[in-house]
Amino acid sequence: MGLQRYEFNQIRMGVDTPIVVYAAREEQAVRACRAAYSRITALEERMSDYRADSELNLLCQRAVGRWVKVSPELFYVLWRAQKLAQQTDGAFDVTVGPLVRLWREARRTGKLPDTAILSDAKARSGYRLMELSLRRRAVRLKTERMQLDLGGIAKGYACDCALRELRKHGLPRALIQMGGEIVAGDAPPNAPGWKIDLPDSPHGLFLKNGAVSTSGSTEQYVEIDGVRYAHIIDPRTGLGLTQLILARVRARDGITADSLATTAAVLGDPDAKRLERLYKGVQVTVSQVCFNHSGQPLNGSHGRLT
Ligand code: AMP
Ligand code: MG
Repeated sequence: MGLQRYEFNQIRMGVDTPIVVYAAREEQAVRACRAAYSRITALEERMSDYRADSELNLLCQRAVGRWVKVSPELFYVLWRAQKLAQQTDGAFDVTVGPLVRLWREARRTGKLPDTAILSDAKARSGYRLMELSLRRRAVRLKTERMQLDLGGIAKGYACDCALRELRKHGLPRALIQMGGEIVAGDAPPNAPGWKIDLPDSPHGLFLKNGAVSTSGSTEQYVEIDGVRYAHIIDPRTGLGLTQLILARVRARDGITADSLATTAAVLGDPDAKRLERLYKGVQVTVSQVCFNHSGQPLNGSHGRLT
């Protein structure tokens, strides 16, 4: 039977999450996508730093000075994050939560944090303050009032898990986007891949069984005294990145593309290229954001599914 294209869109982890699948029947598409969205919801309940009762937030409260066992999913994401932190000397660092909170406050108030508050938040951040035990599948934090933040990695991982769910339901030809993360399964029928429109690549991109992620200072930022501070924290300063930068990463899966794109934005050019040597098969591009005459970024968008 011929395959039809079905599209769904729901909000997950605070962003539009479109899923496109090819299926023989509508009921099959609906059932599979429902399962995929439920999988993402379950991950959000574990990994959100916005929900007071998420597994992540309970961990931050309970793991100070003692080992706390966590779910396999949370452990895997923390493990990947910690490996990347070690490889990049903390350019990627999920312990930046206290600094992310200050950035959110600055966005609300239009003011930078004062020096004492900033140094207090910096003292509670730093990947060396988080220990992981593979044997116990457990986490221990070294300081009070730490805050873990998986905003730079969890969406890519959620896309990977949702794609696996669709495959389990017999739909391998699928595409998922969560904000800057796009993850593709098998190609649509009679096509070389899923065509992704990217403003800076004129012919678009054909993606299959792989991921492309975009990070940088174009989507979320606060401008204070003429300086733009992006939502990505430079752990060296404790403040949002001020470089007008756009990082794009292609990788085999979403968790890799997502975490490396955030890292590439922090590292900038040419350091970010080092990531290609650390992760096999990964392509990293970092460019300056270009603006048109009305201040809109020309090359900034996340990419569109077509
Ligand atoms: P992304 O949009 O994937 O680049 O992720 C940005 C999000 O990652 C931010 O909103 C924070 O939640 C988190 N984040 C900010 N700075 C860092 C950093 N240096 N390392 C890891 N995660 C970060
Ligand atoms: Mg990311």
